[in-house]
Amino acid sequence: SSERWIRNYVDGGYVDPDPERGFDTLDPATGAPVGRVHEADAALVDRAVLAARRAGERWAATPVRERTALLRRAADRIAERFEEFVAAEVADTGKPVAQARELDVARAITNFRTFADIVAAAGQESFLTELPDGRTLLNYALRKPLGVVAVIVPWNLPLLLLTWKVAPALACGNAVVVKPSEETPSTATLLAEVLAEVGLPAGVYNVLHGFGAGSAGEFLTTHPGIDGVTFTGSSATGAHVMRTVAPRVRPVSFELGGKNAAVVFDDVDLGETLDGLSRSVFANTGQVCLCTERIYVQRGIFADIADGLAERARGLRLGSPQDAATTTGPLISHAHRDKVLRYLALAEQSGAKVLTGGGIPELGPDLAGGSWIEPTLWTGLTNADRVLREEIFGPVAALVPFDTEDEAIGLANDTDYGLAAVVWTNDLRRGHRVAGAMRAGISWVNTWFARELRSPFGGAGLSGIGREGGESSLHFYTEPTNVCVQL
Ligand code: NAD
Repeated sequence: SSERWIRNYVDGGYVDPDPERGFDTLDPATGAPVGRVHEADAALVDRAVLAARRAGERWAATPVRERTALLRRAADRIAERFEEFVAAEVADTGKPVAQARELDVARAITNFRTFADIVAAAGQESFLTELPDGRTLLNYALRKPLGVVAVIVPWNLPLLLLTWKVAPALACGNAVVVKPSEETPSTATLLAEVLAEVGLPAGVYNVLHGFGAGSAGEFLTTHPGIDGVTFTGSSATGAHVMRTVAPRVRPVSFELGGKNAAVVFDDVDLGETLDGLSRSVFANTGQVCLCTERIYVQRGIFADIADGLAERARGLRLGSPQDAATTTGPLISHAHRDKVLRYLALAEQSGAKVLTGGGIPELGPDLAGGSWIEPTLWTGLTNADRVLREEIFGPVAALVPFDTEDEAIGLANDTDYGLAAVVWTNDLRRGHRVAGAMRAGISWVNTWFARELRSPFGGAGLSGIGREGGESSLHFYTEPTNVCVQL
């Protein structure tokens, strides 16, 4: 048939698809099919893990200098094949082409370069211990790769989030078995080609497709040949995956959902703050784990912020990803839109006032099959409402007034999540004070989404366990052996 198969990649080669085990992916902008994905069965997962175990041993023994040089070549090769990656990401996600270029694929290149640098520069620490009886002990820790790491990632920033884990894992000498989201299987599959082109040995990078409980992802996390699991996705799935990993007691890193707050004080520069808030609510159609869904505004400027943000929301241009004027793409799927629509209905039942949006936009016949939604803002809700307690993951936010700094901190921290926060203020000391008081993995002041890849990244509460980035990645993807020698 003329169907385009998106295949699994195991032990250095794409696997011929089994026509009985396919599922379709759709372009979220139009609803048109992108391709047919070959779903890995338990036997294929087994083959991938065994290949990774075999290849991983040799890869771990390869000098760091060679491993990191290979990662730099991978970055160069992605740069050469840049537009192919952009096209694949846009077809899977429906996001505007400019965003795929400037964020997703650009960051994939940066991920490979940054983690090559970090791992190449990392040293081992050693120290002497003087005992009371005069003996001296030499202690040092040998950091060794974990072995085979299962990497499970979501659909919102597919290549960016994948390479954020794969680059440090490989640099540290691990082999990986990757399970991309069923919604966005293409770029992880394409990356296999690039890594082979720059000389990564067969078996070190493997890709398996599948979805849901009792399928490829779960065969992988429960496989005895896996030495660690790094997962990005929703808190509910994360909790489930944690239970599947628990019996074998493997190290885990979980980057999960958020219900992120912004706190806006009345001393701000309105224009700059509105631009920043608009980005933090609506970027990637609200489908970034770091997006703001709760906005607490000091009472004196509440109306200015509410009106100004609503105006900016109305100024967003929903449209074809190929159109340079498009600022905002669709939601990832109809199923996800149904979920967001349920929250829109719930907000109204809870007595919300809709400032703007609240429904499905009319975008013409070409985009009628897409999973589009209007950017939406509410007032009139409180932290007691479910809409302010549960992650929605769409271009939606509620604005709530506050009076004092303490009240704002209390409202922002009144959540089961703890991923990200933003503080908007021109008061230097207040900015530091409030940002530091946030129970969140990252707390910005007067900016949003700026990321230093050497900084630790992760979340508190339902937002996850562990940190990655910089040295934290080095620590997660390796395990030390303390050698103690009596001199
Ligand atoms: P999801 O939890 O539905 O899926 C994530 C991945 O897990 C997918 O690849 C999926 O196929 C896989 N999976 C599902 N069931 C599994 C199972 N039983 N065993 C193994 N794997 C399984 O999440 P999603 O809808 O793809 O992504 C959106 C979510 O991700 C949001 O909650 C968002 O906040 C979160 N997210 C978090 C971060 C972060 O860094 N903290 C970044 C991006 C997205």
